[in-house]
Amino acid sequence: MIFNSIRWRVQTWHGLLLVMVLIGFGLTAYQVAWDTQSRRIDQELKQRLDFLAMPFPREQPPPDLPSPGEPPPEGFPPDGPPPGSRRWDHQGPRREPPFQRNRLRESLLKTAASEYSQTNSYYLVLWQNDGTLLLQSSNAPTAMLMPLRTTRIELPHREEPGFRKPPPEPRSNPSLSPMIRTRGEFREAYRSLPMGDCLLIGRSIAPELAARKRLVFWLTVAGGAILLFGLAGGWWVASRAIQPIEDISRTALKIAAGDLSLRINAANTDSELGRLAAVLNSTFARLEAAFAHQARFTSDASHELRTPVSVILSQTQTTLSRERTAPEYQEALRACERAAQRMRKLTESLLELARLDAGQETIKRERFNLARVARECVDLLGPLAADSQVEIRCNLTSLDCLGDAERIAQVMTNLLANAISFNRPGGYTRIATASDNKNAIFTVSDNGQGIPEEDQLRIFHRFYRVDPSRSGSQGRAGLGLAICKAIIDAHGGQISVSSQVGVGSTFRVTLPLVET
Ligand code: ADP
Repeated sequence: MIFNSIRWRVQTWHGLLLVMVLIGFGLTAYQVAWDTQSRRIDQELKQRLDFLAMPFPREQPPPDLPSPGEPPPEGFPPDGPPPGSRRWDHQGPRREPPFQRNRLRESLLKTAASEYSQTNSYYLVLWQNDGTLLLQSSNAPTAMLMPLRTTRIELPHREEPGFRKPPPEPRSNPSLSPMIRTRGEFREAYRSLPMGDCLLIGRSIAPELAARKRLVFWLTVAGGAILLFGLAGGWWVASRAIQPIEDISRTALKIAAGDLSLRINAANTDSELGRLAAVLNSTFARLEAAFAHQARFTSDASHELRTPVSVILSQTQTTLSRERTAPEYQEALRACERAAQRMRKLTESLLELARLDAGQETIKRERFNLARVARECVDLLGPLAADSQVEIRCNLTSLDCLGDAERIAQVMTNLLANAISFNRPGGYTRIATASDNKNAIFTVSDNGQGIPEEDQLRIFHRFYRVDPSRSGSQGRAGLGLAICKAIIDAHGGQISVSSQVGVGSTFRVTLPLVET
């Protein structure tokens, strides 16, 4: 299913968003353009309509009555208001239909004549209030109907005799305001005149409609192009973003198939996936090292076990090949016993390491005195030191530590045994305890043969011996320091060595102090 693909999901979502944005933008652009155009046309139509209907201004209050002896306002009958009335006719002089109609018709005829000669001209129509067509410019569409039937507009009268002030504000009469309509390809503005006639002015909006179609066409073309470009760009970006994931899964598959040396190429990836690739690469490297370590460990362990097994086999086969004397049998059995002891020591060490690795070995968290444990170890190794003519010196300070006293004693014994074994007659080894406020420290130093610099880090590896032939002949498997390190690690401490060939070595161990 393509919708299970991240690339397709991103692409679909991105495409949908793009389409919505483009439609929204297109509709807005279209609406704004059309509104602007319509407003401009309507403005023109209204201006022309107002101009043509100038003799009929929008509703105005009738003029005040003149004071006695004062002449009437211009256009009003010179003999004052009709007899028996103390007010002017609200329509005033400008509202006398025949007079106004004639003036309007003349003005309209002039305008119509000048418009007719122009392209895209305006047309004019004037209807009498009863719907009779009074005037129509020759460019007007045929069969035009009066847009609204109007009645003569009556403005409020002032009844009180001697009332001289105009009424507060005449009622607004919408029919005197221009109104707009669209009929097919024509846009028209019309308004009523006070005597009820209707004046209309209009024009063809065919060019604007054509422009509108062109706008729709170009908006569609531009929108389609942007959509295609956006989709292509989105696909390219998504493909580039997904590429490292495909590289990662391809490489991971090969690694899972057994080629642990492979790494993901994260050189060109500086995104989050690049960091993921770097993390995976370091995980693969650790995995490869762990596998290699495991393989070396197995091979070393089997090699170490093969030696005593070979000894036992050869001893028994040689002894059994013919009849032997009792001392010869005893000697063969003793050789077999030594080999078996060695095997037992080896398997015990391996088992101990495996348990420490797996966290199965119980490490106690008890308070113990480091100097007391050191003293016990010195006492234990006194005979070995005496045999090897190595002096043990002590510089012990009483310190309370937290941990497993038995295990720490095992570490001290191992370090002291090494310091005695890899020494020379007349040499010495010193064990010292001290603290640096945070940790308890004990050091085991000697003035023996020392350890070459290149071997100093590796002596803590399993089965590592600086001189395998010599150590092997002494039954040493190179597991002692590895066990020491595993024990100290389990205590949350550290073990390190500094050494110089021919001068001697110092092993330094830090352990957590008891908090006071
Ligand atoms: P083993 O159990 O075989 O003694 P270790 O792990 O204890 O192995 O030691 C590893 C190697 O480190 C030894 O083979 C030896 O070469 C070297 N080594 C350890 N302690 C000392 C020391 N005090 N002086 C010189 N070499 C040492």
